[in-house]
Amino acid sequence: MTDKRALHPTETMLEEFATGNLSTGKCVAIAAHVELCAECRQRTSEIEAQATLAWLAETGSDSTESSSDYASLVDSIVAQPQFSDADEFAEQDAASPVREIHMHERSITLPSVLARIASDGLVWKKLAGGINQASVMLDDETQCEFLYMKPGSQVPVHKHQGNEITLVLDGSFSDAMGNYGPSDFVVRTPSHTHQPASDEGCLCFAVLDSPLTFTKGLARLFNPVNRYRFKRATSQRV
Ligand SMILES: [Zn+2]
Repeated sequence: MTDKRALHPTETMLEEFATGNLSTGKCVAIAAHVELCAECRQRTSEIEAQATLAWLAETGSDSTESSSDYASLVDSIVAQPQFSDADEFAEQDAASPVREIHMHERSITLPSVLARIASDGLVWKKLAGGINQASVMLDDETQCEFLYMKPGSQVPVHKHQGNEITLVLDGSFSDAMGNYGPSDFVVRTPSHTHQPASDEGCLCFAVLDSPLTFTKGLARLFNPVNRYRFKRATSQRV
C-alpha cells in the first residue's frame, strides 16, 4: 500500500513553490493541493516565512533586532494566505464565474486556482477507454489538463519520459502502486509504468513535463500523435 505521506508534494517542491521557482503548470497543481491540504498549507507558510526572514537578514534590515519582534514577524507572515506565483489566478477567485464542474450528474467544487482556469472555458475531448480530457495551456514547459475517468474506465498501460503529477479532485483511481482519493498528489517518474483505472469515476488535474509513451497494444500507434500534441501544446504562443 502507498505511504500516505508520499501523496503530497515533496519538501523540495514546496520550497520551489514558495520561492516561485516552478513552471506555472506545476505551481497551479501545488497551489490547488495546498488549498485542499492543511498540512501542506502550514508547511508552505513556514517555508515562506523562513525565506522572507533570510532575505531580511541578507538585506541588513533591522526589523528583526529583538526576539519578540522576530516571533511576531514570523506569526504575521504565517498568517498571510500563501499562493506564490498562483496569485494572479487566486486573486481573481471572487470574480470567477466557475466554481463547479458537472460531470455525469456530479457537481464537483474546484479549488479556486483551478476554478479560475476553468472559467476561461474547458473544451472536453473523448479519448479511448472512457477518458475525457480538457487541455489548458499555462506555460511552455508542461502539458496541463483536466482528466475525467468515467466509472469503469482504464488508461492504456504507459510509462513516462518525464514526470507526471496527478491531483485527484473528486472520486478515486488506482494503479498497481495504490488507491488515490481527493487531494492526493500522485507523482510518477520515468521509472514507472502504470495503468490507472477507476471504478467509481474520477476527476483529476494532471501536469506532464514530457509526452507519455504507450507500451502496449494499439495504443502504441498513438505515440507520434501524442508527441505532436505535446509539442503543439507546449510551443510558444505568438
Ligand atoms: Zn499535502
